[in-house]
Amino acid sequence: MSEQLRNDINVDASKWQYYRARSAAKEMIHGSVNEQYSKLWEYCAEIKMMNPDSSMIIKCSISSGYANPMFQRLYMCLSALKKGWKKGCRPILGLDSCFIKGHHVGQLLTAIEVDPNNQIYHVAQTKGIDGIRELFPHSEHRFCLKHFYNNFKASHKGLMLKQLLWGAAKAINKQGFTQFMDKLRIESEATYQWLADKDPLHWLRAFFKETALCGMLCNNICEAFNSVMLQARDKPVITLIEMIRVYLMKSGNYVYQVKENGGEQFMVNIEQKACACNKWQLIGIPCIHGMTALLNSNCDPLDFIDTKYNKDSFLKAYSPMIYGISGPSMWPKFNDIPIQCPDFKKQRGMPKKTRNLQSYKGGSNVVGSEAGNGNGGGTQPMQPTQAFGQTQPVQPRQAPTH
Ligand SMILES: [Zn+2]
Repeated sequence: MSEQLRNDINVDASKWQYYRARSAAKEMIHGSVNEQYSKLWEYCAEIKMMNPDSSMIIKCSISSGYANPMFQRLYMCLSALKKGWKKGCRPILGLDSCFIKGHHVGQLLTAIEVDPNNQIYHVAQTKGIDGIRELFPHSEHRFCLKHFYNNFKASHKGLMLKQLLWGAAKAINKQGFTQFMDKLRIESEATYQWLADKDPLHWLRAFFKETALCGMLCNNICEAFNSVMLQARDKPVITLIEMIRVYLMKSGNYVYQVKENGGEQFMVNIEQKACACNKWQLIGIPCIHGMTALLNSNCDPLDFIDTKYNKDSFLKAYSPMIYGISGPSMWPKFNDIPIQCPDFKKQRGMPKKTRNLQSYKGGSNVVGSEAGNGNGGGTQPMQPTQAFGQTQPVQPRQAPTH
């Protein structure tokens, strides 16, 4: 960095100057750490308002010498993930933690499930220093076999022992497990005894309960998430949670937050074919934000255009038949009194056949004109932009004044 600055703008600075400049730049981008903590109540309220039934729980402590409550931890569980987990996932959670590397020490604890396709499904995140394992004393606990093996290999080395350990853990029934353990005992009695001391319920697939419907031995789904979160770990609290939330939104498959280049931001729900800008709902064709969301989720925008625009609708519109008729001699006869022609004044000269444009512009033929609203709208010519209402903002109608 120092070499780049020297070459680019001919500036030489000390290590501490670089550090302070970097901190100042970070603060400009993400806001100050204190400022973000002070906005935490409002931020959580906004998330709960937009995602009803979500849990956003902040725990603070009162310390002497400080006027304000001091942040201890924050728990976030978005309602969509809560419901999705209950509806579509198996009753198992992977729990893991990683350290926060910002101004304040702490840990990010994550509860992750696997979806029906065995892919990551996040359930909850909490930023704080306490574990949540003790909250589930009655649940079955499984070790991550990768971590279990790391402990194992410290005192039991060799490829053969490793293969036998993994073989025993992976066996799906007790007979298979016994075969591997017997071979392991021949290889090393000490290793066999070390393993025999461990509760088989925690690390052997053959002993796992059937209720979870999950035979995963490693918690690498959590680690995959933690590696994704590497970028977020040194950010101030709201930026960190926002990065997680936006990541979770991306892994959800129909709600997007689309940001325009100018900075405006719109919520797009591709399942409901709706965008907060309202254009998609109004005309039935995805707006630019909808298009962005659809392309981002590898969907074909043509599939999201309202069915009223498709070939089927076109054919349906023209399928009812207007039938031809026979000549007057074939018409049904009635004994009713014949109808009289209306009484009108005969115009002087030849009757005009050309269209009277002035009377057309007068408004009586224009559907949607504002006739009768007290502004004389029925007699004012209507401009094309007003008639189609797409390029003009909608003005609230004036209340009549008396
Ligand atoms: Zn839009």
